[in-house]
Amino acid sequence: MLAGQKNFVTNGAEADVFLVYASTNPKLGYLGLSAFVVDRDTPGLEVGQPMAKTGLGSASLTPVYLDGCRVPAANVLGKEGQGGVMFASSMRAERSGLFAAYLGAMARQLDETIAYARERRQFGRPIGKHQAVSHRIVDMKLRLDAARLLVYRACWTLDRGGDADLEVSLAKLAVSEWAVQSGLDAIQVHGGAGVVSETGVDRGLLDALPSMIFSGTNDIQREVVAARLGL
Ligand SMILES: Cc1cc2nc3c(=O)[nH]c(=O)nc-3n(C[C@H](O)[C@H](O)[C@H](O)COP(=O)(O)OP(=O)(O)OC[C@H]3O[C@@H](n4cnc5c(N)ncnc54)[C@H](O)[C@@H]3O)c2cc1C
Repeated sequence: MLAGQKNFVTNGAEADVFLVYASTNPKLGYLGLSAFVVDRDTPGLEVGQPMAKTGLGSASLTPVYLDGCRVPAANVLGKEGQGGVMFASSMRAERSGLFAAYLGAMARQLDETIAYARERRQFGRPIGKHQAVSHRIVDMKLRLDAARLLVYRACWTLDRGGDADLEVSLAKLAVSEWAVQSGLDAIQVHGGAGVVSETGVDRGLLDALPSMIFSGTNDIQREVVAARLGL
């Protein structure tokens, strides 16, 4: 019988099936967690209203409530007590693979910002010829390429089957924080147009902000890296 509440569930409004991690033996801590596959129409499972949020407008975010939710033993994923290990493994994949999507968004943002800086003229020349603007765009390019390499390294390390926690957490930190910074820079280069919603320039920043929170906050990623550095 599952009982509890999960506050932030991406695509909760659309999901037909939920993967629920629950404590089945609290005395064992991490080794007392189990994973359950729960159909949306299971009695005792209720999906709350989608929350209005910053960015990521195409992905719903809902709470999920479990109250007296009976799940058959056949719906335990793996074995009882394996949930923690599964969660950690899925998080490594999420913190690298999911964040690769931001690389595409940053690349598009860079292309659009370069095009704008070539076209928009102020003080008799394209704004991209003003060093303050061109250097800002160079920094966007630098962040994109560095983040891409860190994501590739994280995925390569994961593929090799070793301990990839340090590489994965560094990649997650780099992509999320540099996507935020490049989102700010794109707005700055676009001037007033950067904060007019219908131009869509602010979307890069708004979509990037939640990435510092989900998949484990960036503070927690720094904790992971610090531990791997023996601190
Ligand atoms: C857009 C979005 C989508 C999400 N989708 C999902 C989803 O699909 N599935 C899912 O399971 N979860 C999802 N989450 C939840 C997300 O993983 C959590 O919000 C996140 O782990 C932080 O937990 P919290 O919100 O309870 O913040 P808290 O844990 O309360 O943290 C608050 C602040 O305290 C800091 N903090 C807390 N503990 C420590 C510590 N030990 N050391 C240092 N700093 C600390 C945090 O870094 C943060 O700055 C989503 C969240 C968002 C924003």
